[in-house]
Amino acid sequence: MKLIVATNRSPYNVKKEKNHVTLQKTDGGLISALDPVMKENGGVWVCESDTLLKDYDVKLPYPIKQIKLTENETKHYYDGFCNTQIWPIFHYFPAKYKFHIKDWDFYKQVNQKFADEIAAIIETEDIIWVHDYQLMLLPKLLRNMGIKNKIGFFLHIPFPNFEIYRIFPKRTEILEALLSCDLIGFHTESYRKHFIECVKYFLGSQAGIKENLIQYKDITSKVIALPISIDYKHIEKTAKSSKVEVKLSKLKDNFNNQIIGLGVDRLDYSKGIVEKFEGLELFFEKKPEYIKKVSFVQIAVPTRVNVTEYRKLKRQTDEAVGRINGKFSRDGWTPIHYIYSSVKFEDLIAYYRLADFIIVSALRDGLNLVAKEYVSTRINNSGTLILSEFTGAAEEMPYKYLINPYDSCSIAFAIEATLKGNEDKKTSEMANLRNYVSQNDIFKWFNIFLNELKQ
Ligand code: UDP
Repeated sequence: MKLIVATNRSPYNVKKEKNHVTLQKTDGGLISALDPVMKENGGVWVCESDTLLKDYDVKLPYPIKQIKLTENETKHYYDGFCNTQIWPIFHYFPAKYKFHIKDWDFYKQVNQKFADEIAAIIETEDIIWVHDYQLMLLPKLLRNMGIKNKIGFFLHIPFPNFEIYRIFPKRTEILEALLSCDLIGFHTESYRKHFIECVKYFLGSQAGIKENLIQYKDITSKVIALPISIDYKHIEKTAKSSKVEVKLSKLKDNFNNQIIGLGVDRLDYSKGIVEKFEGLELFFEKKPEYIKKVSFVQIAVPTRVNVTEYRKLKRQTDEAVGRINGKFSRDGWTPIHYIYSSVKFEDLIAYYRLADFIIVSALRDGLNLVAKEYVSTRINNSGTLILSEFTGAAEEMPYKYLINPYDSCSIAFAIEATLKGNEDKKTSEMANLRNYVSQNDIFKWFNIFLNELKQ
């Protein structure tokens, strides 16, 4: 038996340098989460890529079958249906949504390409695990090709409630396709309930629902809530490494031992980065005594740069950073240090260690792995996780300082509260959080899902 994992994004790409090419792990939550598991358990990874690894002399950690998309497929399937249609609807941004039938046709076409690739390598005992919103039709397309193997699906973004989901014209087709799976996983109980509510409404009596089982046509799907996690041990070990200690001490020197706040997000409108800056602006306005004492580092990883909404967001973010830095900077000090690029893993861990608090201000987020990563690096149990109530992590994690990112006052107040907070209380809260994440890591998530799928 082998596990076949299907994701849109390739876990690895090649980096071309002068005379040689090296293998490079891709950014993003899903890849960070699944890569260690695949390295340990083996299997085949099926994904999309514009540069095919097989054309280079690189050693892969496990077999990776890549599908090359045409320019039109990238435009209409990826930029179009995935990121201009599903993403805004599933993240509760209907105003950013526009339906184009052509995008839907390409979504079907690309999902079929994945189905063809899997059909070519599958053997009787294999198990298929499909990931995320880019491949929601794939389970049904595999069934259409006569594949009877176990199929699991995990959605890494929220599943919206009925009132939002009903806006989506392809709502019934997507539900039917997902109900071709033996197991369907969501991060939270809310998303699971939303899905069942939508099945009830759109498929009516055709779908037999009994607790967490849905019988539709000749397949019974089990629907579970299982929040994804991170490789806790690896992150904690890296946080304690001498390499990170050296980077941390340089950062501390650079920041002159100030109090540091941190944000780590893809530059996506769902992450609430501008809202976070507005919260910071209000904080410095109301509490000028913290000027020159607190600095905020925002790592904003470029993403979906071909999609109009993301280019607009880049301009809005640059404008907010310029305005706030212009307003409060003095004597060589600036409030916001804005890094518009991805950073290397060890550098990211050093920033997590540096930060006295982190602000996750997502307006909507399936889970948010950054929150769990930050907690895993707090080796002295110091620091505060300030977390948006609209993240899956907020529903899951035992303790967190919750904010409503739509409300600048809520963010400003949370920053002040953590700066003034009782250190013993903060330490014990962080210790509880660390304990929780350490007990619920990515390997546990993976094993639970796979064991459920094998049953
Ligand atoms: N990350 C990264 N490169 C960076 C900054 C962050 O690969 O420069 C990773 C980070 O470690 C985390 C992921 O990107 O694992 C972000 O996951 P999250 O669930 O917070 O959000 P997503 O980007 O999946 O929406």
